[in-house]
Amino acid sequence: MLQIKSISKQYRVGDFTQKALDGVSLNLRDNEFVAILGPSGSGKTTLLNIIGGLDRYDDGDLVINGISTKQYKDRDWDSYRNHTIGFVFQSYNLIPHQTILSNVELALTISGVSKSQRRHRARRALKQVGLGEHINKKPNQLSGGQMQRVAIARALVNNPDIVLADEPTGALDSDTSVQIMNLLKEVAKDRLVVMVTHNPELAQQYATRIVELRDGSIRSDSDPFEVTGQQSGEPVHRTMGKAAMGFTTALSLSLNNLGTKKARTFLTSFAGSIGIIGIALIMSVSNGVNTYIDDIQRETMTSYPITIEEQSIDLSSLMSQSATAGGGEEGADHANDGIYPDDSSIQRASTLTTSISENNLTAFKEYLDDPDSEIHQYVGGNGIQYSYDVKFSAYTHDPDGTLVNTDGVTVGESASNDSMAAQMATSTPYSSSTSSMSMLTGETDENAAPSSFSEIMPGADEETLISQVVTDNYEVVDGAWPTGADEVVLVLNERNEIPLTTLYELGLLPASDYQTMMDQLNADEEVETTTDKLDYATALDQTITLIPACDQYVKDDSGHWRYIGDDADEITQLVDSGTGTSLRIVGVVKPVEDAQTTLLSPGIGYTRALTDDLIDHTDSSAIVTEQQADPDHSVLNGLEFSPADDAAKAQDARTYVASLDVSDKASMARSIMGSSMDSAQLAAMSEQQIADSFDQYLATAGDDVLVTIYDRYISTGTYDDNLAAFGVVSRDAPSAINIYTDSFEAKDGISQAIENYNASADENDKITYTDYVGLLMSSVTTIVNVISYVLIAFVSVSLVVSSIMIGIITYISVLERTKEIGILRAMGASKHNVSQVFNAETGIIGLCSGLLGVGLTVLLNFPINSILHYFMETDEVNAALSPVAGVVLVVLSVVLTLIGGIIPSRKAAKQDPATALRTE
Ligand code: ADP
Ligand code: MG
Repeated sequence: MLQIKSISKQYRVGDFTQKALDGVSLNLRDNEFVAILGPSGSGKTTLLNIIGGLDRYDDGDLVINGISTKQYKDRDWDSYRNHTIGFVFQSYNLIPHQTILSNVELALTISGVSKSQRRHRARRALKQVGLGEHINKKPNQLSGGQMQRVAIARALVNNPDIVLADEPTGALDSDTSVQIMNLLKEVAKDRLVVMVTHNPELAQQYATRIVELRDGSIRSDSDPFEVTGQQSGEPVHRTMGKAAMGFTTALSLSLNNLGTKKARTFLTSFAGSIGIIGIALIMSVSNGVNTYIDDIQRETMTSYPITIEEQSIDLSSLMSQSATAGGGEEGADHANDGIYPDDSSIQRASTLTTSISENNLTAFKEYLDDPDSEIHQYVGGNGIQYSYDVKFSAYTHDPDGTLVNTDGVTVGESASNDSMAAQMATSTPYSSSTSSMSMLTGETDENAAPSSFSEIMPGADEETLISQVVTDNYEVVDGAWPTGADEVVLVLNERNEIPLTTLYELGLLPASDYQTMMDQLNADEEVETTTDKLDYATALDQTITLIPACDQYVKDDSGHWRYIGDDADEITQLVDSGTGTSLRIVGVVKPVEDAQTTLLSPGIGYTRALTDDLIDHTDSSAIVTEQQADPDHSVLNGLEFSPADDAAKAQDARTYVASLDVSDKASMARSIMGSSMDSAQLAAMSEQQIADSFDQYLATAGDDVLVTIYDRYISTGTYDDNLAAFGVVSRDAPSAINIYTDSFEAKDGISQAIENYNASADENDKITYTDYVGLLMSSVTTIVNVISYVLIAFVSVSLVVSSIMIGIITYISVLERTKEIGILRAMGASKHNVSQVFNAETGIIGLCSGLLGVGLTVLLNFPINSILHYFMETDEVNAALSPVAGVVLVVLSVVLTLIGGIIPSRKAAKQDPATALRTE
């Protein structure tokens, strides 16, 4: 039972107020066919909309089954329209882009009925109105009468208590009108039907009650219904149920709608995708470039580790100090009144010496060996490599059978005779940093390994003899990689070359030719060099005899050890007797064509196994054990390392000279007295005479003379000096530490870790090193990233533009679909449902834009890569959109279009359903 209690409704348009309903009171029975008659503009539609909950009354009350609708919330109204009311409109109001079946299903869809149920009930309703055959047609494929029957089927499908029909026959011819009226009469058998019409005959013929409306007031009522207290009964609160529409429904509505405007949807998506394409392209390219840089970094870092040496020059402090010390501006400060000293060169020299620092690598190695040290997280795949200054000499025979020392000097000769030019020619271009360091510090290392020998970088773990970086970047052109201590490889450069001098040093070319060549150089003559190639087999045939430093000392009759490394005969004897280790060249290697790093310098490469063997051999050698047994006296001359006072020194000097044989004594005398005596006079004397006169001189000499002689010619050095000369190497005290990383970031991390180490270390244990690569290149990645961000910021503008565009298009769509909104609301869709429909639409467009953009980017990357390869002259820069970035961009596109659509879809939701339905 429906009670309309003096309801008023006014429309305000500007200043003008239109009274649509003016205190209408009407009670409707649960089962009757009411026809509302009245001229146009009399308020019939307004009354019907108020009864159907599409419009709100200003005054009065609408009581449904005893419950005042004043208490109704939006939800209740939605539910009321969905479950209790069925609407039939003059203009049918079918959704044009949906099939008839879908149109009828709509009310059920909104109430959340399952799909099969929906199908079944919609078919039944369509059959009921005689349209069983046409279910898959679109509304525009039907006649007006058929459309109105669809509308009636739609109104009935929810089996509502009330059917409201607003001029259902208004647009139909009289025959069809009769059919529709019959149908409605049928419908009215078991429910309340309220029909607005201005056709009195039809009303008379079919309706059970006629209410006449004029200017918003009831003029007559053919069958008034007086509700008495008893009749009204107890108010019954019917559960309204929930009008609910799933998101899928919203989606399918929008999909269908977009399907009718494919071209526009495509163009919109395409326009929206341009911003996405822009960003995706920038991301692809910067991704490609960054990957390339990462690769380069990894490769660079394998060849440029952070190197910490025993002695290091603090280059940065050197540069900063020399910039300030004795600068030109400072000099200008002096007044023009006298002579001022310019100490800048002294200052520079001082800076140079003070910037050389000793690193305590033993303490640092302890830190590195601690697995908890923070530095380990930054260490790359090649790990930390320790270098040890093992000391040995290596000898080999040239094709003529002459014994050659691989340090570049034929056995028994001294290099010092060579002219500057010859020395320059022979000094290897790959001089290690240690040798340049010794040039700076003035220290020489006579037993040091020959410069043409270098250790092949071992793998990061103990088992791997040769690091993968080496095997990846070098190919074996003949033979194989070494597998043990006694096997070495000959390393060529990428052009299969090896320095000529190294070939002589390794005995692969005759030493006599080298001598001729040197003679020509010294005589400033034109030098003829050989450029003939050598077979790999020649190199593989070569054997090298390695003699560790400790084995270059022999114990003589006096019980002291004597150095024989500079004695040609004794060395020849040593080599021939097979004392040393025989090294076999087992392979010839060269860098691969696109080698990223050339870790090995041309010459001989030996393995870590040899280094280990040398360390162990030296530790157990007789001279070392003897020296270690008596740390106070030098095994070389039996003298004390550090005499307590001058008397002891003088005594030591006497003992020492006494122990010398005649020729040694004579040569010592020559060097001491050479300055004071006439050289011609000296030359005339025999060795015996010189020695004798020297003895005489010493016999009368005072202690001070002897102390001077001791200090200048005898001084035994220290215990450590001796051990170092014998080649003793402690595994705890590497000569250099190389820390490999995989990226600049990791390298920065290492630098930071070393800084932290220094902060907590003792003053003497602080580590200094120069980070050359870091100085040069760390900013490259940052620059690429900054450029990418700036470009993305620019392109983002186009995303904003496309979002606005999509907002506008959604707005147009809202305008276009106003009627549909009205229909949906009339069916019981809530505001939320309506906005969902439009959100679904913008979501679909956003998704299309995103997918289109990402898809096009993937396609565009092909030509872009060709262009990049052409201009960058490398195939290694590959623009590629990462899958994550792709997904993120699609999501971004959806989110942005959703944001763009928010305002229009809100507007759609707020749309007054009654007004929406009135729009044409
Ligand atoms: P009917 O259906 O009897 O022709 P309506 O109920 O549609 O009449 O309209 C009643 C009156 O209210 C008319 O004068 C009409 O102009 C006015 N009216 C209806 N809807 C609106 C509206 N949304 N805004 C302003 N005036 C309206
Ligand atoms: Mg009307």
